[in-house]
Amino acid sequence: MEILRAAVFHTPANPFDSASALVSLPDGALAIHAGRIAACDDFATLRARYPGATVRDLRGGFLLPGFIDTHIHFPQARITGSLGHSLLDWLRAVALPEEARLAHLPYAQALASEFADHLAAHGTTTSLVFGAHFAPAVAALFDAADRKGLRLISGLVLSDRLLLPELHQTPEAAYAACRQLAARVQGHARLRYAVTPRFALSAGEPMLDVCRTLLREEPGLYFTTHINENPQEVSDVARLFPRARDYFDVYEQFDLATRRSVFAHNVQATDDELRRFAARDCAVAHCPSSNAALGSGIFPLRRHLDARVRFALGTDVGAGAGFGLLREALQACLMQRVAEKPVTLRAAQLLYLATRAGAEALGMESLTGDFSPGKAADFVYLRPPAGSVLAGSLKNSDDPDRQLAAIITMAGPESIREVRVEGSVVFEAPAG
Ligand SMILES: [Zn+2]
Repeated sequence: MEILRAAVFHTPANPFDSASALVSLPDGALAIHAGRIAACDDFATLRARYPGATVRDLRGGFLLPGFIDTHIHFPQARITGSLGHSLLDWLRAVALPEEARLAHLPYAQALASEFADHLAAHGTTTSLVFGAHFAPAVAALFDAADRKGLRLISGLVLSDRLLLPELHQTPEAAYAACRQLAARVQGHARLRYAVTPRFALSAGEPMLDVCRTLLREEPGLYFTTHINENPQEVSDVARLFPRARDYFDVYEQFDLATRRSVFAHNVQATDDELRRFAARDCAVAHCPSSNAALGSGIFPLRRHLDARVRFALGTDVGAGAGFGLLREALQACLMQRVAEKPVTLRAAQLLYLATRAGAEALGMESLTGDFSPGKAADFVYLRPPAGSVLAGSLKNSDDPDRQLAAIITMAGPESIREVRVEGSVVFEAPAG
């Protein structure tokens, strides 16, 4: 048994439903045993309960649940920061040429290791990752995540039209490659497979039919794709699928909208689509940095809440601003302040969106996302550098809401000292 002593923040309940969902323990502690949370409480309480435990004194810092990224692209890590485009021209000019480079396995392997390092260093313990268009590159990503000890869901990105010819597969080849990759992670403790058509624009009916077959044959697989990101994309999809009543209906027609489906963006969603999202219990990955960077629009967060559609955060690297989930939470907060129907997001809600909401979106809420006893010991130990603006702000107030808001506003990777998945260290900042 190990006890870690530090201030603790987590949201074991949904702060959109309950004003008291945030648990904050100024002199708190986590008791960890065999990779699981044995207890989370005040330090004095845990010290008395487990007198034989080893105590690690981390006071001056904060323990938060590991961050969960519900939408990020592995092949795009090195093109982060290409500003000034909109979706379809960014894909053509920036993203797709880089994605084509992953056909070269040594390039993909190097990028996979780098990508896993970046996830860990930013405190992302669980992620739903858009893989590459090439099966060996996706296998390299699974290997890198396995070596690092990360919890990761990914899959081969499927497209049979309208991208670059070298990124297209036939539906038959896609089916065989997906089966092989899914078998590779079957039964793995931390890796899962997601059927991943890029979007309906680049996946014709035969390819969507393959997706349906894969999900039917293996009900444990996840499904993820893009939807309703950009007005031009939405009207192009309507033209390509004249029998569908809207974008979501394309995926519904192929039985791809289930409890295990995560759809990225949904900025342009209609009320009727939101109603059906909720009825089918699908989740949305909300990626505010990417939506702003590509000029896609402001996520209708109020309408998602009103329709009771589940959503969590995604960084959408490389259209987004980087790997940091707290920065993504800040971006969500800032954009909702100026939305047509503004929502003032509280710090507890932002922490929830970066942690437990992600676990719920992925159906992993009994495993990770907060510090309830029995869950995996997935956490981030955060301590801002001495002399930083954040350190000064934290010293200036004992109010937990203000402290958490300051952390969300200012804590970048330089504040992340240690990250663990199932109790095992996946990142440790250099001493000093
Ligand atoms: Zn994306």
